[in-house]
Amino acid sequence: MIAKGYMGRILMVDLTERKITVRDMEDGDARQFIGGSGYGAKLLFDAKAVDCDPLGPDNVLIFAVGPLTATSLFNSDRFDVITKSPLTGIFAESSSGGFWAGKFKKCGYDALVIKGRSSSPVYLSITDEKTEIKDAKAYWGMDTFAATEALQKAEGAGVKAAVIGPAGENLVKIAGIVSDGKHGRLAGRCGVGAVMGSKMLKAITAGGTRKVEVADRESITAINKSLSEPMKVNTQGMADGGTGGGLEASEELGNLPVKNWSGVPWHDGAKKITGLTMAKTHLVKTYNCGSCVIKCGRVVKSQTGPYAGEEIGGPEYETLGLLGSNLLIDDLGAVITSNELCNRYGLDTISTGGVIGFAMEAFEKGLLTVKDTGGLELSWGNAEAVHRLIEDIALQRGLGKLLGGGVRAAAEELGPPAEEFAAHIKGLEPPAHDGRAKFTAAVGMATSNRGACHLSGFSHDFEEGAVLEDLGSPALPRRFTPEGKPENVFRMQNLMGMMDSAIVCKFALFGGL
Ligand code: SF4
Repeated sequence: MIAKGYMGRILMVDLTERKITVRDMEDGDARQFIGGSGYGAKLLFDAKAVDCDPLGPDNVLIFAVGPLTATSLFNSDRFDVITKSPLTGIFAESSSGGFWAGKFKKCGYDALVIKGRSSSPVYLSITDEKTEIKDAKAYWGMDTFAATEALQKAEGAGVKAAVIGPAGENLVKIAGIVSDGKHGRLAGRCGVGAVMGSKMLKAITAGGTRKVEVADRESITAINKSLSEPMKVNTQGMADGGTGGGLEASEELGNLPVKNWSGVPWHDGAKKITGLTMAKTHLVKTYNCGSCVIKCGRVVKSQTGPYAGEEIGGPEYETLGLLGSNLLIDDLGAVITSNELCNRYGLDTISTGGVIGFAMEAFEKGLLTVKDTGGLELSWGNAEAVHRLIEDIALQRGLGKLLGGGVRAAAEELGPPAEEFAAHIKGLEPPAHDGRAKFTAAVGMATSNRGACHLSGFSHDFEEGAVLEDLGSPALPRRFTPEGKPENVFRMQNLMGMMDSAIVCKFALFGGL
């Protein structure tokens, strides 16, 4: 008998054989690996996908929720995607919020394991009663928002969809998976969208309505009640400015990537693109993932470019950093357009900004010329060129073919001088946190199991900021002292491993969870 909080079932789909089976989740596995990234890693290990081609039929694509998902505990409606990464060649996990996780779990499952490869485009339709492999030819080629809308028309408005865009279909190694459409969320990292595309799987719709049994409903209600006020008060800054509200402070600290991580100051530019400026100039409203009261999501009104006049998703801190400061683009409207293009094509904004920053430096140094760029002046701050390049990456045209493989592959292609300014760890482009500004971020990213990841340790946000006595860190961590860094990162990685497995949004820590 499985513990409460779990549905106790794993959905197994073989797209080659077009076979769908359900198996039990073992209670021992639940207790040892919890769920989310922990249980997903166990399922990946069991699938023996270590030596496979990440884009071949033997790779498995795993979606895992956690025991807290859909229990109504604050900030717990998330899912993890686990697979072997085509970008890094190693373990991949990518986490996403939104509302898909709850809908999937309420179909009666804790995880979904997809193997094989369909011979034509398909999508998975999952409900309380059944799972079907359906024809997706009509949706193939659609951007993520159009596909979501069309699938919701076909499956019912209450259904949520996790979909890939043209980037995933074209096996771009920095493609992600978008859930909830227009104002949704992206499991962006490690090229999980390309793995989905390699299986010819356009989307997974979920429309569950089952109840999730919990062991102690009163405690969940009490925790939510006690946290409701502090959560709102402590995270008011995130509601006001989004995750990008602290961008100027990040630049001051030297934490923000500027000009392909060159470390130059960029005060005036940071002021123009910070989330606080966005709140004054573009913000229409905020939105949240399921069971969240923080509401860091942004809906903005685009004023320029192809989406002028439309209400679209606003960029987060990482996107403002990688597609803004990292490219010396201080036109907030242009960064908003870049963000929208990435969301529609289904591209990870971190890796996309990272690889375009790399290309701009290569252009500056003469390693790429207008002949390579198809006539594009790939100079710093050229937002129009960035928009073209995002499309070229997603559609695998021209220089986009080289850049779609990520920074490491592009640098290998261009040769040794390029490798000197190729920012990646284990093949994954870094998020907008500079390890030189916070030593704990350097240790955390260097030892993260998926490559350059700030979230697997998450200790950077507490450096100079909080004493974590419960975690055995009684003194305020200083930025530039090596002492205690390995221990801090070790403890935080263990804690974050638990949060990624349970699964809870890490921003809830700021609210007091
Ligand atoms: S804080 Fe932001 S990312 Fe986290 S659950 Fe809430 S809306 Fe989603």
